[in-house]
Amino acid sequence: VGSADEAIELLSEHGEDAKLLAGGHSLLPLMKLRLAQPALLVDIGPLRELSYVTEEEDYLAVGALTRHHDIAVSPLALSSVPLLAHVAGQIGDPQVRHRGTIGGSICHGDPASDLPAVLLALGATFVARGPNGEREIDAKDFFVSFFEVALKPDELLVEIRVPRPRDARWGFEKLTKRAQDWAIVGAVAVRSASGVGVGLINMGPVPLRSSAVEAAVLSGANAAEAAQFAAEGTEPSADFNGSVAYRQHVARVLVRRALEKAGV
Ligand code: FAD
Repeated sequence: VGSADEAIELLSEHGEDAKLLAGGHSLLPLMKLRLAQPALLVDIGPLRELSYVTEEEDYLAVGALTRHHDIAVSPLALSSVPLLAHVAGQIGDPQVRHRGTIGGSICHGDPASDLPAVLLALGATFVARGPNGEREIDAKDFFVSFFEVALKPDELLVEIRVPRPRDARWGFEKLTKRAQDWAIVGAVAVRSASGVGVGLINMGPVPLRSSAVEAAVLSGANAAEAAQFAAEGTEPSADFNGSVAYRQHVARVLVRRALEKAGV
């Protein structure tokens, strides 16, 4: 398509039969497995006007079509939210980072993806555009259930607004078998003048923000003490990479390390 409005028109016309295609690095594998069989693919990849990183007064604005690599090397992202740039640079391999987009990563709703947990911990806001204009959705309200997000069938995610925490320290930890893999478990912690945020990757059907760990930090616990709460409220699945108990143990270890790096 040639514009965001054209994409929204097609979504309104075709409803659930249509699927947006951004970098294709999550949707195409699903289609190959016949887990997604859209009648119409709306290719938003060419919408380069939705690929940008800009600094606004209170937040970093990232266009939904911005590719992981472009975030990883963005001077603005590196200076104002280095955690975001760092994590974007850890996703998959160079091919994935040069095609995959931040919007695709969020809208896919995969709890094993890295950026959703990071954006939860940072308290980001997502901007959706539909036939009736734009609305903001808080990251904490966006991830509804396994691979399901709060967008309506005729909405396009256009922008991600990431608060720029002052004097932030942060840690990002990801356990993988091979460098380019998805996280078996991952943890992110960010501590700044405005508070503490802790996110968990692959510890349940949706990306999680660990309010139990955050509360412990706020009440004065050190990293090791607060990390003991990391498995609270999680529902990880068991698979060939590890049992539920193993993942919960790893979550406590990774949260401790992330908190230590964040200066807790
Ligand atoms: P697409 O595949 O094009 O779309 C994904 C979904 O989002 C589709 O349902 C699509 O309709 C919807 N969508 C896309 N853009 C929008 C929008 N603007 N508005 C509304 N809906 C939209 N991810 C990680 O986090 N960590 C990893 O380590 C990692 N490793 C990977 C390794 C491999 C080999 C591969 C293939 C992928 C990996 N990924 C990883 C996933 C990668 O980050 C994907 O690029 C990303 O999840 C999806 O982005 P995309 O642009 O390719 O989306």
